Amino acid sequence: MTTAVKLSAVLNYTPSFELLNKWVIEKQLCCYCGTCAGVCPRIGLDGKVPRLVDYCSECGNCYNHCPQTYTPVKKIEEKVFPGTNKEGALGYYEKCVFAQSTDKNILSIAQNGGLVTTLLIHALETGMIDGAIVTVADKDWMPRPLLARTPEEIKKAAGSKYVMSPIMLAYRLVINDPTVKKVAIVGLPCQVKAARKLQTDPIIPVENGKIELIIALFCHRNFSYEGLILETVKKKLNIDPSEVKKFDISKGKFMVYTKDGRQVELPVKDLAKYSWSSCSSCDDFTGRLADISVGNAGVVDTNWSMAIIRSKKGLDLLNDAVKAGKLRVTECGDAINVVLKDAQKKAERREKVSEVLYQRFSELGVPSEDVRAYFTLLTLGGASSAELSKALNISVTELDTILSRLLERGWLTKQEDYYIPTRPSTVIRIEAARLNNLIKKVLEEESELEGIYARKFG
Ligand SMILES: Cc1cc2nc3c(=O)[nH]c(=O)nc-3n(C[C@H](O)[C@H](O)[C@H](O)COP(=O)(O)OP(=O)(O)OC[C@H]3O[C@@H](n4cnc5c(N)ncnc54)[C@H](O)[C@@H]3O)c2cc1C
Ligand code: SF4
Ligand code: SF4
Ligand code: SF4
Repeated sequence: MTTAVKLSAVLNYTPSFELLNKWVIEKQLCCYCGTCAGVCPRIGLDGKVPRLVDYCSECGNCYNHCPQTYTPVKKIEEKVFPGTNKEGALGYYEKCVFAQSTDKNILSIAQNGGLVTTLLIHALETGMIDGAIVTVADKDWMPRPLLARTPEEIKKAAGSKYVMSPIMLAYRLVINDPTVKKVAIVGLPCQVKAARKLQTDPIIPVENGKIELIIALFCHRNFSYEGLILETVKKKLNIDPSEVKKFDISKGKFMVYTKDGRQVELPVKDLAKYSWSSCSSCDDFTGRLADISVGNAGVVDTNWSMAIIRSKKGLDLLNDAVKAGKLRVTECGDAINVVLKDAQKKAERREKVSEVLYQRFSELGVPSEDVRAYFTLLTLGGASSAELSKALNISVTELDTILSRLLERGWLTKQEDYYIPTRPSTVIRIEAARLNNLIKKVLEEESELEGIYARKFG
């Protein structure tokens, strides 16, 4: 059983749509996961961002469950994955395997080894879940979320759509349907974060609409429909989207497979300008809060899936599907290092603090290396001394001196081996008080200087 991890307890302000808008949407950090609209009928989605369409009662549900606001990742991991291994950027996991569906029909429609589709169908058929939130696409490849209730509907969602889909909007259907007691959610790492937040701090009674299983897809970045489908596929490649059988991204190439057997490809870097804005600061490649994370990184044959099994529940489901003859599984061996490398590379992506702010803080008389360490800690969301020294590319000894200065200044606190930055508004007040004291002290000596001046110049 998962104990609740309260998200609101740590806030000292009233969370509302206004704050969500100010700190997430206007900052272009919204990953269009649909959670806010999924939990609140007063929020609508306009295809790019959420909008308030009615009066906001400031209940805080949208703000608290948004994956782009504070998420106690460490606390959640410790609760959800007790006793499992932890490997830096990969997060917690029980084991990593290559897996493939034994169902030829699933393999023919799946993106890789059909692991996601097979696991969902098995979970549905064995009563583990009553439904699954998945992503289907219309004939022009516009994706939309679906609450799938049958194996046929789950199969309809097979295959990757490289366009943002607000999957958590379908959580509205779960809330409103008393027959869906246990649901699975398949999503990208950002969406998985929202799903886990909702599971560990539920807004509806757990006996109804319980999030039972969370499956993540590995993800480097995702794209807008206008950029990828309309500008690239339709205009640049002159392929009508309705003619496309499958899209794939692999080894730096974006590939389009048409229904009449053509294969057209483009370097993925040509698509960078169509990336979703939140992706540039996203640091999770594998979806570290999922029960199972699935991708194709590290596979030799793309008809297989790579899977990181994190929770005991995920492991039991995989083993059960293998026992039922629905999946074949082999050890992935060193191939996990390919995933680890990708995850480490992505973990370095972070929100950036502008150079003007570095300059301003340094002008307060704070050593610039201390300012850099504080800002890095802020964008990392806290870190151990080893993680911070890696991020700053300086030795632990050098960093220790900086950290003790920052601790003394009140810019951070230490919790076990973890450094937590002090809230910026508090830091600014600490520095204002320090400067005030400094000026006061100078003013105390004012008469001595004034005396010299008076004696010399009258
Ligand atoms: C946008 C995106 C980027 C990806 N990037 C990488 C990558 O960089 N490296 C890597 O190794 N793997 C990546 N993957 C994962 C990979 O493409 C496969 O989804 C994964 O290997 C699972 O294959 P499968 O055959 O087991 O899944 P299937 O059995 O084919 O099932 C696919 C599942 O994906 C879900 N889905 C499809 N599109 C979306 C979407 N847009 N949003 C949310 N859910 C969706 C469907 O609901 C379906 O249940 C990415 C996937 C997506 C959607
Ligand atoms: S009513 Fe609650 S969930 Fe809805 S917009 Fe306001 S704060 Fe968000
Ligand atoms: S990231 Fe999701 S929850 Fe947050 S504002 Fe965007 S759609 Fe809403
Ligand atoms: S890169 Fe991150 S924010 Fe962008 S779609 Fe993937 S998981 Fe979501």
